[in-house]
Amino acid sequence: MGRKVVITLHKNDLRVHDNALFHAAHDAKHKDVTHVLPVFVFDERFVELSGLPGYQRQGPEARTRQYKFWRTGAFRARFLLEGVFDLRDTLRKHGSDLLIRFGKMEDVTADIARDLIENGDEVKEVFLQEEFYTEEKAIERKLRNNLKKAGVPLTCFDQVPLIHVDDLPFPPKSMPDVFTPFRKRVENLPQFGRPPLPIPKQFKPFPRPTKPDHLYPGFGGSIIEKDHRGVDYVLQCLLQPLQDTFQLRAGSEGKNQKSAFPYAGGETAALQRLDFYFKDGSPPPIARYKETRNGLIGHEYSTKLSPFLCLGMVSPRAIVAALDEYEDKFGSTQNTYWIRFELLWRDYFLFVARKFGSKLFTLGGFEEVTDPKQALPKLKNGWWKTWDMDKPLADSVEHEQPAVRWMQGNTGVPFIDANMAELRESGFMSNRGRQNVASFLTKDCQIDWRLGAEFFESHLIDFEPSNNWGNWQYVSGVGNDPRASRQFNPIKQGNDYDPHGDYIRAWLPQLAKVPTPRIQCPWTMHPSDRSRLIPAKSYPARPVLEQPGWRPHYNRKGPNKHGVPNRNERVRNPGPAIVGRAGRGSSADGDSGAGSADDKKAKTVAGSSGDRPKGGQQHHHQQQKPQDRRWANAATQTTGEARERESRASARVLEEAHKNGHRRASSKETMIA
Ligand SMILES: Cc1cc2nc3c(=O)[nH]c(=O)nc-3n(C[C@H](O)[C@H](O)[C@H](O)COP(=O)(O)OP(=O)(O)OC[C@H]3O[C@@H](n4cnc5c(N)ncnc54)[C@H](O)[C@@H]3O)c2cc1C
Repeated sequence: MGRKVVITLHKNDLRVHDNALFHAAHDAKHKDVTHVLPVFVFDERFVELSGLPGYQRQGPEARTRQYKFWRTGAFRARFLLEGVFDLRDTLRKHGSDLLIRFGKMEDVTADIARDLIENGDEVKEVFLQEEFYTEEKAIERKLRNNLKKAGVPLTCFDQVPLIHVDDLPFPPKSMPDVFTPFRKRVENLPQFGRPPLPIPKQFKPFPRPTKPDHLYPGFGGSIIEKDHRGVDYVLQCLLQPLQDTFQLRAGSEGKNQKSAFPYAGGETAALQRLDFYFKDGSPPPIARYKETRNGLIGHEYSTKLSPFLCLGMVSPRAIVAALDEYEDKFGSTQNTYWIRFELLWRDYFLFVARKFGSKLFTLGGFEEVTDPKQALPKLKNGWWKTWDMDKPLADSVEHEQPAVRWMQGNTGVPFIDANMAELRESGFMSNRGRQNVASFLTKDCQIDWRLGAEFFESHLIDFEPSNNWGNWQYVSGVGNDPRASRQFNPIKQGNDYDPHGDYIRAWLPQLAKVPTPRIQCPWTMHPSDRSRLIPAKSYPARPVLEQPGWRPHYNRKGPNKHGVPNRNERVRNPGPAIVGRAGRGSSADGDSGAGSADDKKAKTVAGSSGDRPKGGQQHHHQQQKPQDRRWANAATQTTGEARERESRASARVLEEAHKNGHRRASSKETMIA
């Protein structure tokens, strides 16, 4: 008798815990299903596959839309691969397996379904995690059609956000445009996210091909199943085409020792990190989240769960369950509140992206819908500068295009460049860094924000469309949140968050000898000191531009006369990465802009109005025309006052949370399938 098969098609849900696909395939409704076939397809539209020997690409290279970066850069390629093979290992431990293929998801899956049917099996259904971006939706439609021709239905599961869409206190289309009303309404829900779904006790068997030597269709059978190739070989193939100007070789050589994210990809490493952060030590690192979350060095300063979340190696509900467990032991604190708060930012961007569809990726952003009048000037030629991609690299950094200097980490502003170096050399950047480099690109250099979003898309290990593009819109002032006129002062931010210059020296070793009081602004040193302390041609002599608002921060205040460090020097940072239990994963291969309660402290260069400086005040070393105060009317302003109000409101919520404990989903509550 033929087997009754469900295909679980995995993409950004690389886990067995709290996975609706596995849960459904093993629930009572699917009793008659005898076999489950988990499949992962590396899709040529998202990952460049041309380096695989014999692979014939059907469409164009896997590059970003506007600026043509590789969509999946070296670090995420490795992380993804590690995650896929880790899922296979875990499934094997559960008596199942994972079929790995390369191609176009909708074609490969339909071919596999047909192959099973031809073999006399019945393919009952294909399960897929639902994603709401335009491209993903189009692929889902094609998959549905292809499967329909084979008589197989497709069922999608909406499981990416923490708060299930059906639990929202408003229809998704009425999603509030501003974070605070969203947060307030969601925080009032009786449950803060549903409890995680249990892992099936006994996985249904993997339907092995019944004919000898038969391989399921799709490119890769001979590489993976016949030649038993693993992460290292496939990675080498995937990295081969990525060696061009802005794409680093790094990633092929393994993790950067300095990285704040030293983990392998996969559910195993994700759960180890979760345990480390929420359970290891008394108290565990979470007990210092609020105080350290703006750190820059080492792995402990924040949860480092975003890369795992983005590829679904950990579920947001599993994080909340760990928070609950921690609170049962240690009580709820500001630290636990803040992690919930950050997870809500993630949901906010996910739901906002659903509401505005393709506007997530367009120049005018969400603002084009929410405030077309305000969006109009930003759509006109000349508002945004751009990158002339056809122009060859200049002979010296001084003649280089500002966009290129930003990407290379050669702006001459060390705090910006150190962050960009970290991104390019490790695939990670702190939230603090992301806000600063995004503000610098879009507000100081006035360059098309999509260049930044696409560069991040290519380089970040934790790239996720709504969180990346949504945050870029937010910082660059084209989003739906009227508090859009933020501009960071990189000198002040450097003084505040890297007061001794340790972070800068770690990522820009050429500045190692620059004395701390000049580390944020080395161009202010006497030329003779500069040439004595900085190796020739290793760092720009002048920054790409200089804002008048930076100057008061050049002479940073040191400790007071009693030796008490200034406020900024008290920002604690746990120090260099400790690679211990939570170090590399088990694989042998191996004021947040938006998202933060203290975001309200973000200062603007031009004072409380958040304006751009007046024409002529901005001094560009690169020949750039001074801009007028166009940001003044570009958004309902984030005045210091408004930020204050928001801060006070957050503080009140915190207080309440302290008093009442959080309304949260108890792990004892009924399981919702
Ligand atoms: C320009 C820019 C681009 C960004 N691109 C991405 C991206 O592609 N993918 C991504 O996951 N995050 C992105 N972020 C948000 C944020 O920087 C990262 O989520 C965070 O740095 C991850 O580190 P963590 O897990 O240690 O965060 P923690 O501080 O430990 O926070 C816990 C979790 O909350 C969520 N979170 C925290 N801050 C934000 C935020 N501002 N917006 C949305 N969710 C948040 C993340 O899921 C994070 O893992 C971006 C921020 C900016 C300013």
